[in-house]
Amino acid sequence: MHEFSIVMSIVETAEEKVKEYQAHSVESIDLVIGDLAGVDCHALDFAWESAVKNTVLQTAKRNIIHVPARAKCLECDCEFEIKELFDVCPLCGEPLLQIMQGKELQIKSMIMT
Ligand SMILES: [Zn+2]
Repeated sequence: MHEFSIVMSIVETAEEKVKEYQAHSVESIDLVIGDLAGVDCHALDFAWESAVKNTVLQTAKRNIIHVPARAKCLECDCEFEIKELFDVCPLCGEPLLQIMQGKELQIKSMIMT
């Protein structure tokens, strides 16, 4: 499962940070997930449950910050929100879009104890 490997890499990063700062565990973690990141939140929840067992994230409070997808039209330079990767420009109808945001998948911050 795709989401499981995502959570595993989050766990790995968290373990490294905790070691680096000589902390013991993570109290809370903020994740930034773009709407185009291809993450299914229910699958992520499910994967999270089993992946964080016996790790520094076991009791961490998790906050997910959703980032709406925005694109810029390469034809007319307008910027707008998109729902799908292959949406067309609402102004000129061109499909040549540059994704500005929405593909993020990262740890924004962590509080360690
Ligand atoms: Zn356009």
